Amino acid sequence: MSTPLQLPDETHDPRLRSWVESANRPGVDHPIQNLPFGRFRAAGAGDDQAWRLGVAIGDQILDLGATGLVERADMNALMALPADARRALRRRLSAGLSAGSAEQAAWSRALLPQAQAEMALPCRIGDYTDFYTSVHHATNVGRLFRPDAPLLPNYKWLPIGYHGRASSIGLGGGPLRRPSGQLKAPDAAAPVLGQSRRLDYEAELGWFVGPGNALGEPIGIESAEAHLFGVALFNDWSARDLQGWEYQPLGPFLSKNFASSLSPWVVTLEALTPFRRPFERAPEDPQPLPYLDSPQQRAQGAFAITLEVLLQTERMRAEGRPAQRLSLTDSQRAAYWTPAQMVAHHTVNGCNLQPGDLLGSGTLSGPGPDEAGSLLELSVGGQRPLQLPGGERRSFLEDGDRLTLRGWCEREGAVRIGLGEVSATVVG
Ligand code: CA
Repeated sequence: MSTPLQLPDETHDPRLRSWVESANRPGVDHPIQNLPFGRFRAAGAGDDQAWRLGVAIGDQILDLGATGLVERADMNALMALPADARRALRRRLSAGLSAGSAEQAAWSRALLPQAQAEMALPCRIGDYTDFYTSVHHATNVGRLFRPDAPLLPNYKWLPIGYHGRASSIGLGGGPLRRPSGQLKAPDAAAPVLGQSRRLDYEAELGWFVGPGNALGEPIGIESAEAHLFGVALFNDWSARDLQGWEYQPLGPFLSKNFASSLSPWVVTLEALTPFRRPFERAPEDPQPLPYLDSPQQRAQGAFAITLEVLLQTERMRAEGRPAQRLSLTDSQRAAYWTPAQMVAHHTVNGCNLQPGDLLGSGTLSGPGPDEAGSLLELSVGGQRPLQLPGGERRSFLEDGDRLTLRGWCEREGAVRIGLGEVSATVVG
């Protein structure tokens, strides 16, 4: 069965307005056309209070449990719903939150201001896989290590990935502790144990798996999108000095698994419909093997999501300086492979995905020098430190640095939707 083209419907109508007034303000992250899902409870309610499922609308959260539209407060169960049921839920939420809805009286009692809420990770993440979908990132990083042959021969044939660790994925907002590990300078005879001095971020998107597949049953490219639930911002913190010493021959290990940070609201695939783009492959490049190719993917398999990275040092905060933008990237320009191709490739050997699994896009670097999604690239391996307002320089993150990742989608004829932000402050 092939996936029909996903076309905007009444839930994307730019004229649609909500009875939640804050959702109608221009430029908000959570207009009625977005409707992202998350887990919340009242701030200060205490650890004995269960997490609830919510939908962000304007500066409020609608408690899904109070609407009667879901049976239990289990995001993984919601993610497991077939795509049709998820779309039906979106239509009900959109209608109920629309101006003039009969639900207004009842649902207005199920709102909590986001400022009074505490958020949890959106779901239980059973497994986490990180891909490497930006050909520009792969080339930039490859050039630092292999100037003559930056891109390895497999790159344009398959979505490269590795299995990461789910237990250390958290929400940002708090401190990010600088990790320790083995460090070995190129000219040193032996490594030493110490704190990383080359701490970096990676600006990524985290795609959440919806319905899973049985072990041994690959997901075909035509139905791959039906197995994706939505997307959040993802910062894959990386210790470049640990990585440089440990990564051969099996790849990154302790340089990556000390922490990764997700934004709390999952924007659904449905909300992204107006921001789909064709999946394109240059004629001189290898064309995808048939299991990674489909007319639907060619027509609209890519997503245009803008990612912004901001840095504010401790001194900038003390001097009242705003955060400095480090990069601005469009995910469609950055990614060589689509989310559906990641799913089809991940399962082609029969590997089973489960609801709530996380698929990292890999660092999303665009082709331009200001579009790189990591300091490793922006500072060319530390050789060209960035100049910051106030005279500071950065090759990698220093203690007190606050790193923020923001994301949104906008285009003519559609209402802008936001993925929110995820940030953390480095501590020694
Ligand atoms: Ca990564």
